[in-house]
Amino acid sequence: MGARILFAGNGADWPLYRKTLAAALAQRGITAELLGGTDDPASIDYIVYAPNGPISDFTPYNNLKAVLSLWAGVETFQSNRTLTAPLARMVDRGLSDGMAEWVLGHTLRYHLGIDAHILGQDGRWRHDVTPPLAQMRPVGLLGLGALGQHTAGYLRAAGFRVAGWSRRPKTIDGISCFDGEAGLHEVLSCAEILILLLPLTHATENILNAKTLAMMPRGAFILNPGRGALIDDAALLAALERGQIAGATLDVFRTEPLPPDHPYWAHPRVTVTPHIASETRAETASEAIAENIFRGETGAPFLHLVDRARGY
Ligand code: NAP
Repeated sequence: MGARILFAGNGADWPLYRKTLAAALAQRGITAELLGGTDDPASIDYIVYAPNGPISDFTPYNNLKAVLSLWAGVETFQSNRTLTAPLARMVDRGLSDGMAEWVLGHTLRYHLGIDAHILGQDGRWRHDVTPPLAQMRPVGLLGLGALGQHTAGYLRAAGFRVAGWSRRPKTIDGISCFDGEAGLHEVLSCAEILILLLPLTHATENILNAKTLAMMPRGAFILNPGRGALIDDAALLAALERGQIAGATLDVFRTEPLPPDHPYWAHPRVTVTPHIASETRAETASEAIAENIFRGETGAPFLHLVDRARGY
């Protein structure tokens, strides 16, 4: 008998994943039983998991080889005390491409000042502006993980000067890499457009606050497709008010959906997108899950394991 795999994501996604997971497992030569539910939790080897699925207590699943998250961000469940099996987060090329495209699109909007043309069709022929070149535009990227590095590649390919920041030192072709407190200051102080692609942890909560916003060049722009609590909202609103920050496009929020009366909705220089920067795509995510199950079944180390002490 092969591995027993329980799908415990959003039930609405099961009909699709049932097909894509079966195809990806077959492609990898894995004999497995794929279940949408079970009365025998102790027999389950792997759980394909999302926090909006049916499981919050993993205790009955006491023979798990791994829990394979469908989400890249694990802050809401990585500290679940009943989850003692290895936990892998989602790294999916569809998710990475989607994120890189969202960031590139919104970066180009600010870089080119596109709003002035879309919103300013007033009959005046303003020919006295030389459009900027990306090679003159310093862009900062906080987070150089799976999504950050992929996104950095897109920005670099478009010509932007990219400086990135991570916890551990890195060397990435074409990207200026920084780490540590001094490195954060370095990246913030040159970033005319700043992108947040950090996970939410104790160390990254409110990383953009009154002090760090003041380190940025006056009139800078912010894109946050990471997590809402990376930003101190009151400090950002104050910085927008002062003109220290010229605009922000925010995809993620402390409370989601963003309440209708939140000041971000009505702010003329804030764009709200409803947590759609990127999405796990069933076909490519299933390939990533099949790869990890293959590894589990052949004794190879799992990919993309969460370090519970670090929180990501
Ligand atoms: P990842 O591969 O774990 O990368 C995280 C990056 O952040 C790494 O470079 C890491 O540094 C850095 N980092 C973590 N803590 C840090 C700290 N204290 N100081 C400096 N750098 C730190 O994660 P990912 O797959 O790129 O995803 C990033 C986040 O994107 C997710 O956690 C999730 O919140 C968000 N996300 C949003 C959407 C959306 O639709 N809006 C979709 C998917 C994901 P090291 O490289 O040194 O470890």
